[in-house]
Amino acid sequence: KYSTAAAIEEPIKPPVTVEHTQLLINGIFVDAASGKTFSTLDPRTGEVIADVAEGDAEDINRAVSAARKAFDEGPWPKMTAYERSRILFRFADLVEKHNDEIAALETWDNGKPYEQSANIEVPMFVRLFRYYAGWADKIHGLTVPADGPYHVQTLHEPVGVAGQIIPWNFPLLMYAWKIGPALACGNTVVLKTAEQTPLSALYVSKLMHEAGLPPGVLNVVSGFGPTAGATLASHMDVDKIAFTGSTETGKIILELAAKSNLKKVTLELGGKSPFIVCEDADVDQAVEMAHFALFFNQGQCCCAGSRTFVHERVYDEFLEKAKARAVQRSVGDPFKGGIEQGPQVDSEQFEKILRYIRAGVDSGATLETGGERHGTKGYYIQPTVFSNVQDDMLIAKDEIFGPVQSILKYKDLNEAIHRSNASRFGLAAGVFTQNIDTANALARALRVGTVWINCFDIFDAAIPFGGYKMSGMGREKGVYSLSNYLQVKAVVTPLKNPAW
Ligand code: NAD
Repeated sequence: KYSTAAAIEEPIKPPVTVEHTQLLINGIFVDAASGKTFSTLDPRTGEVIADVAEGDAEDINRAVSAARKAFDEGPWPKMTAYERSRILFRFADLVEKHNDEIAALETWDNGKPYEQSANIEVPMFVRLFRYYAGWADKIHGLTVPADGPYHVQTLHEPVGVAGQIIPWNFPLLMYAWKIGPALACGNTVVLKTAEQTPLSALYVSKLMHEAGLPPGVLNVVSGFGPTAGATLASHMDVDKIAFTGSTETGKIILELAAKSNLKKVTLELGGKSPFIVCEDADVDQAVEMAHFALFFNQGQCCCAGSRTFVHERVYDEFLEKAKARAVQRSVGDPFKGGIEQGPQVDSEQFEKILRYIRAGVDSGATLETGGERHGTKGYYIQPTVFSNVQDDMLIAKDEIFGPVQSILKYKDLNEAIHRSNASRFGLAAGVFTQNIDTANALARALRVGTVWINCFDIFDAAIPFGGYKMSGMGREKGVYSLSNYLQVKAVVTPLKNPAW
């Protein structure tokens, strides 16, 4: 239906204007202390969308002071949980009302298809905030039966000031995964957005204040990692840091936390997730799911099914169909209807992906389709499929973060398990089979944080997500995320008359 060779036409004018480009500190939009700005670019063209205030160490210090004061003096952590919950519900309603503008900003800044932003990501954002708004007044401790004449109870208290550093691949969803549980538990927050995608967070944070959030509870600083990000991770007045991004930067965050005040750390890092197609799989369905698992969001997903293991008995048929599906993938202006794939986020990612494609060819993998830029403008890349991929090739080991599917052949399930687990990552896996016993066995054998059986990328607010091995520390979403933002205090009182 669509041809990937089609030239990219004139970019469609986004149906939104940029209203907020300053930093949000203590409930007010302000310029960076240095007065500096940086440009955020349209990945369809490389042209400037807006100049945004560039926060650095001094702005992070200002934001942390505001968050500290809002935590120590209240009212946020001292409000009733029901009041906090109502503000978060009101915020979700406001975001829902502005669904289309927010989706347009996200697409403009990031390049993802508008239909994806408007129909999946903003609604998921709303769902996440409603989920955590619902938790706010259901967080409580226990009464503990200690050995002795004591009344023992636990109090679940907010950790304090939470620093949060998010990436550019899902700017809104990463905001929700981090801020939803932090605020529901009564913390205050300083968020450092990704330098590629600062716009949607500023827009929704304005709505958060319209919903009644007190000043200083949520502060948003746009800026760069080594300046703003590193100051936040090493700040002595920040009690907890949550990070999503590359494994390399995750290690820096952990080190900065350790060298400063041992703040609590959670990390969501990279992946090289296997997608295992068993010999009994329905090949057409498996092809479609494996395609989605890799190509969704231009391949820019930490959990992308980027090692497609296919049983030798169905390999040839799978390969032909996977290639045909990739050729058919509609690539183009993300504001156009029916588009499945927009541009990569920036020139750095674009170049990096093309380098990996060249490395794949050089190492002897077979380039079945794609392999080049798409069109002549912006950061579009052709949907690319490699076959004959071997485990020791760079394209089978590293996170490419682009629309590049690597197909590997296997003979039996033990081999598939062993090879799947032979990775420094352990974020997720997909399993495609019609046999419940195979599904159960694989679910237990794979050393990963999520196993999707006959599905992929199911991300409900209630489902925990996180990695084994170098894919990270801790879990986000669901009930599990609450413990990232809570301290447990034991309160012990002697019982004067234990006989009663
Ligand atoms: P990155 O890890 O450098 O950036 C993620 C966030 O960390 C950004 O907000 C960035 O400003 C911040 N950061 C960077 N250096 C920092 C530092 N020294 N201290 C504190 N914060 C810092 O990722 P990237 O450079 O944007 O992308 C590189 C690769 O990382 C990608 O190609 C991809 O493989 C991977 N990645 C993974 C995810 C994920 O969801 N797991 C997201 C984005 C990128």
